[in-house]
Amino acid sequence: MGKQMKTAITPTREEDYPEWYQQVVKASDLAENSPVRGCMVIKPWGYAVWEKIVANLDRMFKETGVKNAYFPLFIPLRFLQKEAKHVEGFATECAVVTHHRLEKGPDGNLVPAGELTEPLIVRPTSETIIGDSFSRWVSSYRDLPILLNQWANVVRWEMRPRVFLRTAEFLWQEGHTVHATSEEAYERTEMMLNVYADFVEEFLAMPVLRGAKSPAERFPGAVDTLCIEAMMQDRKALQAGTSHFLGQNFAIASEIKFQSAEGKEEYAWTTSWGASTRLMGGLIMVHSDDDGLVLPPRIAPAQVVLMPIIKKEETRQAVMDYTNSLADELRALDFHGEKLSVEIDDKDKPGRAWDWIKKGVPIRVEIGPRDMEKNAVFMGRRDTPGHKKESMDRNDFVAKTVDMLDDMTQKLFQKALDHRAEFTEKVDGKDAFYKYFTPKNAEKPEMHGGFALSHWCGGMECEEKIKQDLAVTIRLIPFDAEEEAGECICCGKPSKKRVVFAKSY
Ligand code: AMP
Ligand code: ZN
Repeated sequence: MGKQMKTAITPTREEDYPEWYQQVVKASDLAENSPVRGCMVIKPWGYAVWEKIVANLDRMFKETGVKNAYFPLFIPLRFLQKEAKHVEGFATECAVVTHHRLEKGPDGNLVPAGELTEPLIVRPTSETIIGDSFSRWVSSYRDLPILLNQWANVVRWEMRPRVFLRTAEFLWQEGHTVHATSEEAYERTEMMLNVYADFVEEFLAMPVLRGAKSPAERFPGAVDTLCIEAMMQDRKALQAGTSHFLGQNFAIASEIKFQSAEGKEEYAWTTSWGASTRLMGGLIMVHSDDDGLVLPPRIAPAQVVLMPIIKKEETRQAVMDYTNSLADELRALDFHGEKLSVEIDDKDKPGRAWDWIKKGVPIRVEIGPRDMEKNAVFMGRRDTPGHKKESMDRNDFVAKTVDMLDDMTQKLFQKALDHRAEFTEKVDGKDAFYKYFTPKNAEKPEMHGGFALSHWCGGMECEEKIKQDLAVTIRLIPFDAEEEAGECICCGKPSKKRVVFAKSY
């Protein structure tokens, strides 16, 4: 690819990947940074994508028996403190409410007043406040299982925020379940991880690895954390969803007890699982190109945009009629159980087509008087190199639209899969490992390394040393990792399987 080729986004991915990301977010009109530190404004186009994520995940959760509920934004400090590891894990990133009103100070400015007797924490996650309700809702094995989900915003005071990927306030869902047995709770933990994986692969066309976190990367208070990890175009990993097996830790902390069928009092077993607006960041980082956002069709707020070209007033009505009737036909098409979503953009202004390219709409259609005469459309796919357009017979176009969209989804997925395969390597020995994760060009530190499949002894010291030296972490221990004798890439001690090491967001 020649540098001279003009792109809609500057810089390009090659030139400066982190800045390219920010520019895509801006050019696609998804979101903007807000004056509030670490918080974002999600604009209508971005929110429409999020609504698609919400609608589909919500349906998939409900298909497994989960119901929605809502709990308070504020968590009394004493609740959070009930689970020692949990509070320790979140203590460094809590927003704390200490006052409940404002008063005029001596200089006339408003100052906080009315100090609370107990500080309230703006929820970073809701295990403890939901656990409090569970303790009152559960008394017998007949009350179990409880399968709940909450759609909400949470706050984690992130020191290095980045729009969608890591924000201080983010939107998410958090599922919380209570079970009578360890086995059933673990099964649910795995089930929800698979729901995430299926959703992300089918709807976001983003291939993911499934596995467990190492102890150091576990959710604070969890017995086991399962996760899905995806590779971004700069070869870094993104944790796209997590599902936690909480054992009895939170049940003990919140006193969630039940009478078993045998009449014995037992602590329950709980799980929690979450996915957030970070998925939007993943979507951008996996598929977008130097001309902006590329939306996989099933998550696009509109799959098709129709752009009538009105050169002369005399033809306006006819072109609009033709456009509207085409829109009606397309909107009647079934697209994976929903109707196809079609946008009409009749603001005939310069750069209109490029705006839709940057916004990532899968199919663009231009309709002028001459297309109309030929009963044709002039269409272009977002994934066609150079955004070349072609004339198609109108009926032919209507008949082929759904197939074209599915073809696009499949190709986006395959491209991401090929990219991951290209930058996944078995790396053995300390030297090779350090070399793998060291930028070859100090001027351009991005775009190196990838997923290293390497042996690890299981020791926290080795994991910590790798993190300190290289900013590389164990992303996951894949479920399908084969038993294989090897030596830890850090200390050389024996290891039984390879884990995935990578830099990450
Ligand atoms: P956790 O409760 O830590 O397991 O996180 C649940 C989900 O939220 C995971 O998929 C995380 O990747 C995501 N997440 C965690 N922190 C943030 C953040 N600051 N901004 C956006 N998403 C986040
Ligand atoms: Zn080791």
